[in-house]
Amino acid sequence: MAKQGKVYLIGAGPGDPGLLTLKAKHCLEIADVVVYDYLADPRIVAFSNKNAEMIYVGKQAANHAMSQWQINELLVKLANEGKIVARLKGGDPLVFGRGGEEAIELTKAGLPFEFVPGVTSAIAAAAYAGIGVTHRAVATSFAVVTGHEDPTKPESQINWSGLATSVDTLVFLMGVENIEKISKQLIANGRPAETPAAVVRWGTRPNQSTLITTLGEAAADVVRTGMKPPAIFVVGNVVNLRSQLQWFDNKPLFGKTVVVTRARAQASALTAKLEAEGARVIEVPAIKIVPPADTTAMDAAIADMCSYKWLILTSANGVDYFFEHLHAAGKDSRALCCTKVAAIGSATAKQLEKYGIKADLVPSEYKAEDLAEAMAGEITAGDKILLARAKVAREVLQNRLRELGATVDVVVAYETIADCENKDELIEALESGEASVVTFTSSSTVTNLLEVLGDKKDLLKKTALASIGPITGATLQKNGLEVAIEAKEYTINGLTEAILEYYAK
Ligand code: SAH
Repeated sequence: MAKQGKVYLIGAGPGDPGLLTLKAKHCLEIADVVVYDYLADPRIVAFSNKNAEMIYVGKQAANHAMSQWQINELLVKLANEGKIVARLKGGDPLVFGRGGEEAIELTKAGLPFEFVPGVTSAIAAAAYAGIGVTHRAVATSFAVVTGHEDPTKPESQINWSGLATSVDTLVFLMGVENIEKISKQLIANGRPAETPAAVVRWGTRPNQSTLITTLGEAAADVVRTGMKPPAIFVVGNVVNLRSQLQWFDNKPLFGKTVVVTRARAQASALTAKLEAEGARVIEVPAIKIVPPADTTAMDAAIADMCSYKWLILTSANGVDYFFEHLHAAGKDSRALCCTKVAAIGSATAKQLEKYGIKADLVPSEYKAEDLAEAMAGEITAGDKILLARAKVAREVLQNRLRELGATVDVVVAYETIADCENKDELIEALESGEASVVTFTSSSTVTNLLEVLGDKKDLLKKTALASIGPITGATLQKNGLEVAIEAKEYTINGLTEAILEYYAK
């Protein structure tokens, strides 16, 4: 029997990926095809299955990549082909999302669908601006209203007098362009012109902006400040609560754009920390981590693991790739039963714990020199040591250990290669001065980013450069670049702290 197709009509929420539901994420992971539009945040679209076909159907007021009937037809066609389709929409699919219309077309075609409700911008964008749509003693009701309908048209379906006088909080979606007409209509129907009002643009995202005004002045203020869609327009006394409830745009890095240069697989930890502090992050995967081309040395070492007194791992990636090789050889962590394990720092040690290994040695400072010194007291001449690390790395560690009489086998656990998919976004952010900090987490991220930027590398002089530690900092200086921010603890946490301190000054 042919596979039965199905369409999930999914609400992606207002933007913050953390507001995506678990069910929505699951649907993205299992879908054969993802059909998404302009309000779906790229960080959410990125949860999609790697093999899924991605179809962008646009939908920015005047700039539709595909008309609604074309979208309906597309969904019917895909489901008829037996595909699992994730139809991703901003906010909630049934709050001015046309999810109902798409579902009716599927029902007509005899095809199954499911609704996956999402967090609507009507409530969430307000909440991120410090405005609760209801509040004890302030508002006991709210309405979500389309702002798309021209209120002066005789055929308007909106009950203006009812809204103006009977509902405490009004939230208009798609209303920025009609804000003058909406406000006039409400005032004409009995809502006082002094009623507090707010316009919240790109709510829940790092580029959120909020305009606080009154019903009478809203239209003029929108023109004056150049506020554009997508934004919600909130009318009601709850807007005054912002003075006590503001939280999101108070965050220390709110409004700052930070460039994170790490390998794709690694960027997420630093990105998550910076985003939690309110920053907008541009991930530039200036390096990509790949297994080594030649694994002969690694395989030979693993086959003879018990001959090593020590195994040294110098990064979390090194840990992952080492164990990948170990597992590929049909072994597991027990292969290390006669070997002590040294980690260069806390992140490496933590990664080791995932494989059930507690590091025997972690130096108090996380540099190769410190590790070598810490090991000096532990080893005796003739000890065999296995150092599994990146292909390109400094030689200090093995040199020092050899001086101490150890036999050091250096094997390549992984290689880093230069790679940059979103170079244009990076260059634009650097040129416009929007990027305020560029972070570097290793010397190779420095050299790789310089390679990616090529003759545009002087753009880095326009921003503050943040280094994870002195070695990375020295690499920046060697390239004529000044280090504005340096982590005290050479970890992702330490780097985040240093950036926070820099802005606190
Ligand atoms: N289904 C969506 C609404 C779609 S209509 C929902 O439930 O949120 C599109 C309108 O939603 C926009 O014109 C704007 O008014 C509002 N909107 C969507 N995302 C928004 C955001 N992040 N910030 C502010 N308004 C947003």
